[in-house]
Amino acid sequence: MKSYETVIGLEVHVELATKTKIFCGCTTQFGGLPNTHCCPICMGLPGTLPVLNKKVVEFAVATGLATNCKITRHCKFDRKNYFYPDLPKAYQISQLYYPICRDGGIEIETTAGKKVIGIHEIHMEEDAGKLIHDPLENCTLVDYNRCGVPLIEIVSEPDMRSVDEVIAYLEKLRLILQYLGVSDCKMQEGSFRADINLSVRKIGAEEFGTRTEMKNMNSFKAIARAIEAEQKRQIELVCCGGSVVQETRRWDDGRNTSFAMRSKEDAKDYRYFPEPDLAALEISEEWIAEIKAREPELREAKMLRYEKEYKIPEYDAKILTSSKKMADLFEETVEICGRPKEVSNWLMVETMRLLRETGMDAEELLLKPEKLAVLIELIDSGKINRTVAKEVFEKIFREDIDPELYIKEKGLLMVQDDRLLKEAVERVFERNKQSVADFLGGKERVFGFLVGQTMKELKGKADPGKVNALVKEALQNHIR
Ligand code: ADP
Ligand code: MG
Ligand code: ZN
Repeated sequence: MKSYETVIGLEVHVELATKTKIFCGCTTQFGGLPNTHCCPICMGLPGTLPVLNKKVVEFAVATGLATNCKITRHCKFDRKNYFYPDLPKAYQISQLYYPICRDGGIEIETTAGKKVIGIHEIHMEEDAGKLIHDPLENCTLVDYNRCGVPLIEIVSEPDMRSVDEVIAYLEKLRLILQYLGVSDCKMQEGSFRADINLSVRKIGAEEFGTRTEMKNMNSFKAIARAIEAEQKRQIELVCCGGSVVQETRRWDDGRNTSFAMRSKEDAKDYRYFPEPDLAALEISEEWIAEIKAREPELREAKMLRYEKEYKIPEYDAKILTSSKKMADLFEETVEICGRPKEVSNWLMVETMRLLRETGMDAEELLLKPEKLAVLIELIDSGKINRTVAKEVFEKIFREDIDPELYIKEKGLLMVQDDRLLKEAVERVFERNKQSVADFLGGKERVFGFLVGQTMKELKGKADPGKVNALVKEALQNHIR
C-alpha cells in the first residue's frame, strides 16, 4: 500500500448569491414551495429566450481574480445536451470552449507545508432542478425551483495527494468565496458541492492512473471518508493485477462504501455546441480593474491586520478569520466595546464550543455583536462573574435573550455587599466546624473547600477573588 500515491482533482460547483437566476428574473432563494420560483424561461418552455444576469459574470470574474486566474475577455456560452427529468430544456447552458477564467491556483497549508493547487478553469453555468423520490407513494416528483440558479464550476488540476490537501483546498476556496460575498457556500443546502476525481499510481510513475469520479459530495466528513475508501479500493484492485474502470461512483455515506453508477455516463455524448441564443461576451479591462478594486479584504490580509491593529495573537487571528461571519462579529463587537482580546476569547472558546455542540456552521450564527458587548461590559463592571456570564452567553447564543433583562429576572447580579458576603462565610463556617478546625490544625487543603462552599452558599453570584480574601480573613480571625 505504501508504494502507491493518490492523485485527486476536484470540480467544485458553487451556487452564486445573486438575487435572481442566471437567465431570468426568478428568485434564487433556497427552498420555497415546489415549482413556485420558476417561469417559462427557467422551465425551458419553447420560444423563450435567456437574458444573461450581469452579476453572475461579475461574481465569476471576482472569483477568478481572487484565485489568480486569467480572465477570458472574449468568452462564450455553449449548450451541453443531455436528457434528465430535472432539466426540462434537455440542455444545460454552460461554457466548454471559452471558460471565463483559466490558469489560476491557490496556496494551501497542511502539516506537510505549503503548496499551490492549480485551478484549470472556472466556468459559468445554470443549475438543474431537483428530483424528490417519494417512497410512500412510490413515485418521483420534480421541483424546478433550482433550475437556472447560477453556478460557477471551479475545476482544479489533479494536484492533490491526500485527504488533508483536499480539505485544506476546499476550506480555502470556501473562505475566499464567502469573503468575496459571491456565495454563502452552505454545504447542507448544496450551494458548495464537490465532484472528486481520484486515481492511484505507483510512486515515481509519470503517468496518471485511470480515475473514478464521485459526484455531488456536500460534507467535508463524507468527502474524507469517501477518499479514504476509494483510494483503498483502487490500490487493492491494482495490487491484485486488476484495473480501475473509469466510471462515476456514488458514495453512500451511511454504508461507508461506494457503488458504480452507469459508466455510460462518462461517455462524452453531450454534443456541445455554441449557445445560439446568447451573444459572446466582451469583458473590458476597465471592468476587470473595477472589480479588482472592489475586492474586499481577504483572509491573509485580515489576519495580519488583526495581529497589528488589535494586538491579538496569531492563533486568535487565525481562528477568528476562519469564517467570514466570525470575523465580522469580532470586528463589530470590538467596535462597540473595545477589549479585542476579551471579545476574541468569547468567540474562540464559548462560541466555538457551542457551535460544535449544536452542529451549526459559523455562517449560521445568530449571535449579535451588541449582546456580546453588553455581556462583556457586565463582567467588566463587576455586575456578574464569569460563571454566570457563561450561562448568560449560552442563553444569548441559543435563544437570543436580552442579557440585562435575563440577569435581572433570574437574580444573577453579583452579591457586592461585604456584609452579605461575610454573613455567608459565617454560615459556612458554622456548618463546617470540623473543616475549620482541620485547617487551623494545619490541613491547608481545606481552604479551597471552604471557598467552594461559600460560593455555593452565594449561588455562584460572587467574585471568587473577593470570597477568597474574606475566607482567609475569617480564618485569621479564628486564629486570634
Ligand atoms: P472531464 O472533462 O471528463 O470532466 P477533465 O479532464 O476536465 O475531465 O478533469 C476533470 C477533473 O478530473 C479535473 O479536476 C482534473 O484535475 C481531474 N483529473 C483528471 N485526470 C485525473 C486523474 N487521472 N486522476 C485524478 N484526477 C484527475
Ligand atoms: Mg467533469
Ligand atoms: Zn425563471
